[in-house]
Amino acid sequence: KIRASGLTRTFGRGSHQLTALGPVELDVARGEFVCLVGPSGCGKSTLLRIAAGLLRPTTGELELRTDATHPAAMIFQDYGIYDWKTVLANVRFGLDIQRVPRKEADARAHEWLRRMGLSDFAGAYPAALSGGMRQRVAIARALAVEPEILLMDEPFAALDAQLRTILQDELLALTQSTSTTTLFITHSLEEALVLGDRVLVMSARPGRIIAERRPPFDRPRTGEVRSDPRFTA
Ligand code: ATP
Ligand code: MG
Repeated sequence: KIRASGLTRTFGRGSHQLTALGPVELDVARGEFVCLVGPSGCGKSTLLRIAAGLLRPTTGELELRTDATHPAAMIFQDYGIYDWKTVLANVRFGLDIQRVPRKEADARAHEWLRRMGLSDFAGAYPAALSGGMRQRVAIARALAVEPEILLMDEPFAALDAQLRTILQDELLALTQSTSTTTLFITHSLEEALVLGDRVLVMSARPGRIIAERRPPFDRPRTGEVRSDPRFTA
């Protein structure tokens, strides 16, 4: 689970000081899928970076608990994949850190590349890929470690509509079957309503959570739900 209280983050000093975030209270229960929407620059990525432990909050406290075999994984808005590693090595990266035996790591990495439609690119370097393909590498890398907590920063933004729908369904099925705790940033309210158990809306900078909505239908929210007339984004 993820719990944060009184989180704020300020960048810079003196007259250049800018408060990017908060204060934010956040409580994501184990296995819950929470979507975060808000205007550009309101501090969504900042909040996710703090949750991932990559950035220290200026004030406030954060609690994020996982066990070592199922760590927290993050997908970055700019993909965050390594240009000097092959696609396969990128996906295997987290598994190597977890000391998953080489053969098993290779098998799992190849399986995720297959799901992402990237089997033919295992030996390629990211520079040779399109934006959407790089994003899929980042998704494969994050999901391959079977994380207990998944932090996703607009992971589907660079994908075409068809692939986005497929991956939304796959992500929902996966997070439900494994009870993954997920915090998911998106610019799309439609996507937030399809995916989230709960949708949090942030105000403009400094971002605070100003509204909370539960989508008006029960899970599973897969393809059939999208065609449900009650579903309006
Ligand atoms: P978007 O939807 O465009 O991705 P966001 O909600 O993710 O926006 P953040 O990236 O969290 O927004 O940025 C929030 C504010 O904090 C912005 O004004 C940004 O310029 C500022 N900011 C973020 N990181 C830094 C940094 N390392 N140094 C200085 N300012 C920063
Ligand atoms: Mg962002």
